[in-house]
Amino acid sequence: MRNKIVAANWKMNLDHKDGINILQEVSDKLQFKTNAKVIIATSYIHLHEAISLKNLNSQINIAAQNCSAYDSGAHTSEISAKMINSCGVKYVILGHSECRDHLHEDNYLLMQKVSQALSNNLHIIFCCGETLLQREKKIHFKHIQKQLEESLFHLSSEYMSKIYIAYEPIWAIGTGVTASSGQAQEMHKYIRSLFSKKYGDICSESIPILYGGSCNSANASELFSQPDIDGGLIGGASLKADSFISIIKSF
Ligand code: PEP
Repeated sequence: MRNKIVAANWKMNLDHKDGINILQEVSDKLQFKTNAKVIIATSYIHLHEAISLKNLNSQINIAAQNCSAYDSGAHTSEISAKMINSCGVKYVILGHSECRDHLHEDNYLLMQKVSQALSNNLHIIFCCGETLLQREKKIHFKHIQKQLEESLFHLSSEYMSKIYIAYEPIWAIGTGVTASSGQAQEMHKYIRSLFSKKYGDICSESIPILYGGSCNSANASELFSQPDIDGGLIGGASLKADSFISIIKSF
């Protein structure tokens, strides 16, 4: 059976104190056994303290929201995969549409980031997704295929256990408009078929594919009940402990 995953993406929200408080609250309220892996991508300022919290619930994993394509050197403002790993963090989000857009991250750069993350022993939540225009022009499948082929498919199958995919239609991120469960399932099934063609059925049946885009406690159960949706990457609704916890309970 595939891993179920609920991952929070805090983006550039929550100052130091508020972030640690929410983390503590989620940790305290997660006093039930979930079969979902819980991952929280804090901002960089929280990573070290989050990992070091003495009473952090053992069901919570901490992630970084990005890493550099480079090992070290003159890359002011960037954070390397090695630095992230040195804090004890084992997960990183790569390819988020906001980074692709605002930071001009293209598929080639992301391929380099993927390699950096893996050589520093990080698991990757790799985001892909289309714009509304691409969907309207019916080129959304081709677009996702290109994102995956150009950034991930250079990897050999031995690395696949470290890769989680997040399908995040850009038109649904932070907009309050969610993809219908049918639209999401259709794309997730397609993504799985790409992994099947490239890496075979064992890999494609085991790779977790998360949905992201205005997923919340009201729509999570319907989305997560689809056969190819293995959980969610949650932005806005992860900023309050109660709504995040209720999404975790949606399986
Ligand atoms: C995200 O940024 O990854 C995301 C899914 O955001 P939201 O849930 O707010 O749409």
